[in-house]
Amino acid sequence: MFESIQPAPADPILGLTEAFKADPNPQKINLGVGVYQDSTGKTPALSCVRKAGELLARSDAGSSYLPIPGLAEYTSAVQQLAFGSAHEVVTSGRAFSAQTPGGTGALRVVGDFLAANMPGTTLWVTDPTWANHANIFSAAGVSLAKFPYFDKANNSLALADMLDALQKIPAGDAVLLHGCCHNPTGVDPTQEQWEKIADVLYAQQLLPVLDFAYQGFGDGIDEDAVGLRTVARQGEEFILCSSFSKNFGLYNQRVGAATFVATDAERANVVGSQVKRAIRANYSNPPAHGARLVAAVLGDDDLRSEWHTELTAMRNRINGMRSLLVDKLAEKSVPGDYSFIKAQRGMFSFSGLTKEQVLALRERHAIYIVDSGRINVAGITESNVDRLTEAIADVVG
Ligand code: PLP
Repeated sequence: MFESIQPAPADPILGLTEAFKADPNPQKINLGVGVYQDSTGKTPALSCVRKAGELLARSDAGSSYLPIPGLAEYTSAVQQLAFGSAHEVVTSGRAFSAQTPGGTGALRVVGDFLAANMPGTTLWVTDPTWANHANIFSAAGVSLAKFPYFDKANNSLALADMLDALQKIPAGDAVLLHGCCHNPTGVDPTQEQWEKIADVLYAQQLLPVLDFAYQGFGDGIDEDAVGLRTVARQGEEFILCSSFSKNFGLYNQRVGAATFVATDAERANVVGSQVKRAIRANYSNPPAHGARLVAAVLGDDDLRSEWHTELTAMRNRINGMRSLLVDKLAEKSVPGDYSFIKAQRGMFSFSGLTKEQVLALRERHAIYIVDSGRINVAGITESNVDRLTEAIADVVG
């Protein structure tokens, strides 16, 4: 039966990690994988999460199945964090949230929901976007198309081309935007630009789907929610996919949520019934521990404030490394203007390095970057930045 099965192509980013692990060079640097690292190159467990874990260990939360949409105190906290507790989306009850296994799980639930309930809907994604978007939605049977997003020549948002393309999308299609910290470019719309994008989306009767995997990694918890709070207009429908992998350091616990915002609470219930049906046929109900941790942190004033402090430290480190990289490149007189890297937000930057330069960095310097030139800024440290910038000078010069 399995004789004729061909090997699947390796995932380009996970494949890079394998190559990095196998490299014997002690000075190797990994700027490929999308995981936060501290100044020593470690991905730490947050102290607030460890404390929440100790509290949970002392209580007996039971080990029966969770309901299909997960823990109510968690999904309620997810909505409040994304929109703010007084936001009309939260207080009106017109949002239905389901806890999902990570942001990937949320996206897949959205894909299954679209395929079953809005067949024929094309999902439009930014060009470029996170590579897994195509895998997830194709696997769910949703067709994909791209619209312009990134202006390569200026390392900025291609707003005019983007609005123009959005205006041509047929009514009823869905448009996937990154809530903040766009992966892979690091380029986000400003609030003013979000207003213009939302105007076009709703004028064209398109369904916004916001992928929100990095809240707090850009400018702050509320600052990073400006895009989705701008899209969240009275009476308008949209979908939000949340992930707590990065901002709670809960990568391996798989904590996310899919929130469907309908016109009113009654519609939200109907939509919710179809979301539950999609989940039941997929993983039945979500795992409990990660969501309990997040709910425990967000539900306790002290732990929540400790989380804010720890998240701020991660954000400041990333933004500090952006500045350090740009300054070091200038100091070493590397040809080109890299100042745009300081303006980008989140863990990733499109460095502008070509595929050839990326390969040369790998072969000559044991520096691992994905072929597109996307770098994980969190992989830069005070101790590797000199080696990194000297290597860039070598391959660019
Ligand atoms: N969306 C984007 C844009 C991402 O970069 C990621 C993770 O890399 C995710 C979603 C999914 O995150 P999770 O690990 O929670 O599935």
